[in-house]
Amino acid sequence: MRILVTGGAGFIGSHLVDKLMENEKNEVIVADNYFTGSKDNLRKWIGHPRFELIRHDVTQPLLVEVDQIYHLACPASPIFYKYNPVKTIKTNVIGTLNMLGLAKRVGARILLTSTSEVYGDPLIHPQPETYWGNVNPIGVRSCYDEGKRVAETLMFDYHRQHGIEIRIARIFNTYGPRMNIDDGRVVSNFIAQALRGEPLTVQKPGTQTRSFCYVSDMVDGLIRLMEGEHTGPINIGNPGEFTMVELAETVKELIKPDVEINMVENTPDDPRQRKPDITKAKELLGWEPKVKLRDGLPLMEEDFRLRLGISKE
Ligand code: NAD
Ligand code: UDP
Ligand code: UDP
Repeated sequence: MRILVTGGAGFIGSHLVDKLMENEKNEVIVADNYFTGSKDNLRKWIGHPRFELIRHDVTQPLLVEVDQIYHLACPASPIFYKYNPVKTIKTNVIGTLNMLGLAKRVGARILLTSTSEVYGDPLIHPQPETYWGNVNPIGVRSCYDEGKRVAETLMFDYHRQHGIEIRIARIFNTYGPRMNIDDGRVVSNFIAQALRGEPLTVQKPGTQTRSFCYVSDMVDGLIRLMEGEHTGPINIGNPGEFTMVELAETVKELIKPDVEINMVENTPDDPRQRKPDITKAKELLGWEPKVKLRDGLPLMEEDFRLRLGISKE
């Protein structure tokens, strides 16, 4: 099996590559423009005979011969996707169109990593895949969430019109080793702040909720979806739901009991609650997450300590 992973130098992508490379029958090609990813995440595979790394921007056409495409390329952290919003929407729309054109030409199966952000600020809780969402089409997050919604539409139109084999995962907040240390997402922020002895910045009101999935569970879910018989969309996430104040208190307790917690201003359109309904993933993929937040956070702490050069007292 020859497998293309776009965005494979990023956080989830590099863990996916590690897993795919474990199977000796797989050859893996990564295409990444290194906007938020890094070669360092793939260090152990560079030079491996079954591995190839291409510097490539998915908004440009790509000619390779593959059997499967995991299409992840897209910045995922709000600070990065808002940095150049026009580029973000091009990546979602033109990038996905190119990967679908490639899938059509070579007859590959393609999986899109969509997002829980397609539900916007949800009016239904928890969110099942049948919910159409509550998304602001002109807000500062729209380049990302509306971009992913169009990407999903393109996937289904290529499926209906050209018979392409598609898979859509709606990923909920994911965390683990190799997250960018300063990428602004909440788990990476709190862990880095705790390790540096800086106050944890809880954005107001602090009662907003998220559900956090450890990256090994996520990768397992993505591979099951790709290998299974269902197009999706299927929610992949951990239904354990926490307020941002609860998350801060957990990080404080586990990593640095004397650290302060500061309430700071929030950004516009921040969803107030988010929790996946994973009935479909359980029934159709036989998948559910195994790693609890309290078990996953220390694994991420270990990785952040190494990269920040802060050893345990
Ligand atoms: P990430 O930022 O670590 O990885 C994204 C990768 O895509 C990076 O390596 C980046 O350099 C690359 N990339 C960005 N634009 C590109 C372009 N135009 N051409 C080629 N490569 C490009 O993010 P991640 O957390 O690993 O997210 C991976 C995927 O999962 C994304 O599609 C994201 O939308 C989705 N997702 C992630 C989460 C999460 O919590 N991490 C939640 C929902 C959805
Ligand atoms: N494409 C690509 N690699 C391929 C085949 C197509 O990147 O191997 C791109 C192509 O450049 C086009 C897009 O995918 O912009 C959609 O391709 P499709 O064949 O569906 O549409 P068309 O080329 O007819 O517009
Ligand atoms: N958040 C926070 N402090 C931070 C960064 C984020 O309280 O330092 C909050 C943010 O307001 C949001 C939640 O954490 O309610 C998740 O934000 P993140 O950017 O990680 O992901 P997303 O909004 O995409 O779910």
